[in-house]
Order: sequence, then C-alpha cells, then structure tokens
Amino acid sequence: MSTINLSCPVCQHKSQKDMITYIDTSKNPELVGKLLMNELYFFECSNCGAKRQLEVQMVFHDPEEKVLLINLANQDYTEKLKDNLMKYIPSNFDLSDYDLRLVRNIPELVEKIQILQFGKASDSIIEIVKLLTDGLFMKQKPDAQILNRFFTIAKGAPKIYYILEDEQFFVDYNDSLQEFAEEKYKKAAKETPKGEFITVNQKWAVNLLEGK
Ligand SMILES: [Zn+2]
Repeated sequence: MSTINLSCPVCQHKSQKDMITYIDTSKNPELVGKLLMNELYFFECSNCGAKRQLEVQMVFHDPEEKVLLINLANQDYTEKLKDNLMKYIPSNFDLSDYDLRLVRNIPELVEKIQILQFGKASDSIIEIVKLLTDGLFMKQKPDAQILNRFFTIAKGAPKIYYILEDEQFFVDYNDSLQEFAEEKYKKAAKETPKGEFITVNQKWAVNLLEGK
C-alpha cells in the first residue's frame, strides 16, 4: 500500500488515497477480482463527484504461475523505476525462472491476467493470434482504423475486443489461429527469456512476424 496524492482532473480538488501497489495472488486473490472488476483503482472525487480509473505504478505477482508484471502507468521504462517497484517484492523470491513483463497501463495488465486465467496459451502466442486476427478483420473491413484490441474473456469465452474509431465489439477467439501460431512460431514464441523484463505487445509480435 502506498499513499498517493491526487488532483481531480475536473475540479483540481486535492486528495490522498491509499493505493495497492503490490498484489501477491497467493495471499490476496480477492484483489485480482477487484482489479478485473475495475474496482481497485476507481476514483471518485469527494468534491465534484467525477469518476475515473487511475493509473498506478504497481506490481502483480503470481508465484504459482511464476509470472510477475510491472505496470509502468504510462511512464517510460527506467532501471530506477523498476528498482523502486521491485522493493515491494519480498527478497526471498528467486525470479530467474519467471516470466517478467512490463505493461504500459492497467488495461494491458488486466489483459495479461485474463491470458493467465485463460491458461491455454502464452501471452506471446496470444499477441501473434491478435495480429493474425487483425489481418482477417482488415480483409472484411479494409477501411477500418483499429485503435486498440485486447484479449479478454467475456461470459466465459475467450474473445478479442476491438476498439475502432466509431465502434467497439468482440471478435471470437480463433483456436485454429492459435494452433497455426503455435506451430509456425513455436521456436520464437518459446524464446521469450525467463528472468528478464520484456514487453510482449503488438510491436513485439510485428517484429517477430517480420523476422526482426
Ligand atoms: Zn473533482
């Protein structure tokens, strides 16, 4: 827990709020549920009532799956930032065989957690599937501008949630694309190094598919 100084984006009213900056899923599984429900970093201004989702630099730690995620909260990565965040983690953890990931913001963090809960593919495979799904999608709607897309689980089923300029919708997660990705990019996707912080996102997948 860290106390954070807040300034309301609407009325500039100043306040302080205690924020969760470290989640250990084995100790506080209830925090994961709150995070996925957008309740953990919800802010309501006591002065004007404005409601916002806050961005908080924090660490998500799943010791069972050996996954550790750092949310940079839209800041550029620096060693110093990482070192500050790593102070939240008890030092008895050996992270050398962990999947360590940097994410830009809470929506990206939530996506990684949903991938963990899905449990049938790694985040690297999912990023490739998303890129392949983009390709199919663009064939149907060549003029569409995809602003963003996230893997998610909706009503128990895996989906890709597309955000376009003027609409948002779910596209079915395609198992055969996953099989294709696992077969074709098996080696590359398995090469995401353990014990080293990396960013596995759209850019990562583009570089992989372009052979960079
Ligand atoms: Zn306010």
